[in-house]
Amino acid sequence: SIPPFVHVPKPYTGISGAEIMEKRKQFLGSSLYHFYKTPVNIVEGKMQYLYDENGKRYLDAIAGIVTVSCGHCHPDVVDAIVNQTKLLQHASTVYLHHAIAEYAEAMASKMPGDLKVVYFVNSGTEANELAMLMARLYSGNLSMVGLRNAYHGGSTGAMGLTALNTWKYPIPQGEIHHVVNPDPYHGSFGSDPLPYARELQDHIHYGTAGNVAGFIAETFQGAGGAVELAPGYLKLAYEIIRKAGGVCIADEVQSGFGRTGSHYWGFETQGVVPDIVTMAKGIGNGLPLAAVVTTTEIANVLAAKIIFNTFGGNPVCSAGGHAVLKVLDREKRQEQCASVGTHLLERLRAIQQKHEIIGDVRGRGLMVGVEFVKDRVEKTPATVETGLLFEKLKDLGVLVGKGGLHGNVFRIKPPMCFTKEDADFLVDTLDYAIDTM
Ligand code: PMP
Repeated sequence: SIPPFVHVPKPYTGISGAEIMEKRKQFLGSSLYHFYKTPVNIVEGKMQYLYDENGKRYLDAIAGIVTVSCGHCHPDVVDAIVNQTKLLQHASTVYLHHAIAEYAEAMASKMPGDLKVVYFVNSGTEANELAMLMARLYSGNLSMVGLRNAYHGGSTGAMGLTALNTWKYPIPQGEIHHVVNPDPYHGSFGSDPLPYARELQDHIHYGTAGNVAGFIAETFQGAGGAVELAPGYLKLAYEIIRKAGGVCIADEVQSGFGRTGSHYWGFETQGVVPDIVTMAKGIGNGLPLAAVVTTTEIANVLAAKIIFNTFGGNPVCSAGGHAVLKVLDREKRQEQCASVGTHLLERLRAIQQKHEIIGDVRGRGLMVGVEFVKDRVEKTPATVETGLLFEKLKDLGVLVGKGGLHGNVFRIKPPMCFTKEDADFLVDTLDYAIDTM
């Protein structure tokens, strides 16, 4: 059952998709890797739906890569942005402005423990760079430890933390180590966290000088293919890291703001409190906004020099980000992620019984992964088939994300206003697409 049309898109008067493609090829430096074979020209967005130049509607199940948390053009977020833009678009953080101060206070109120000092930056990459700097300065150590299959950004340092060769260039990235990620589906130790934690301890013993600066992990590896770390792992890992003199960084760029359904932050699903939290994407519903939150004690190490970021926490982004926090609370989106996510997982697991190609269905809340394999024993990636399904779903009006080193995982991380009817439409469409492949 397709949910009723709730929005009539405005007639499109811009240039055609083919012309845009031509201009992209000629003038834009970004890679065409993620493109559909027949790309869509998205011209309008309304909550969980996107519209192309012909007014065709798409159910957006990836939210601009886990970014549009409240929904496309959510009216309250738009109003906050427009109103602030009309008053004051930018000054500088050397002046006082109420928007950044009120927003920082609201953000701090969402954090557990002593995590009360907020730094606003512009992207997840920058947030992780700053977190790594804090860890190194605070600990007095150099070695950073991360997990295999992680994505933490694309600048030199953040790319160093990333551990997926699709995103890495061989440039000097300096004293960054990667240990085995506790992946319940692919990992040699299944979902037992202990052997993975031992591997981390061994790596510190044998692969570093013994003391580390910090450890960074996504509780739910996103670009790596929607992998939830084995339960219990972070508790063990944090203990090991703290004993080795390091601080623990949670990369919440994808998993924060209630998306897991069960908790506001992804790390809370593992019962840990990090020393530094980085966030981006869903924080601003699409605004270029990100943040690092830490304790006063760690923040003090940055007091010796000026930490200046021209755009970080500018009035418009602060007003928009603050509106996001309020909207998600008022509209009870965390609860919605929990109930819709449970329904979505149940429905996906039901069609998994029928389709051999679906090797794994995993996730929590509205952070779901569907892994396509050639055979369920060897788990050989069905990369080509995933690509065909990805394209076919788009033609049928459903947009999902792709992930994993081999590109054989569908990532379903829609705007948090996604409903049970949307989940049914997605699953019915996927079922049909596989049946008719
Ligand atoms: N961390 C994670 C977990 C991410 O998914 C991303 C972006 N895919 C980043 C960091 C980097 O964020 P940005 O693209 O905003 O620099």
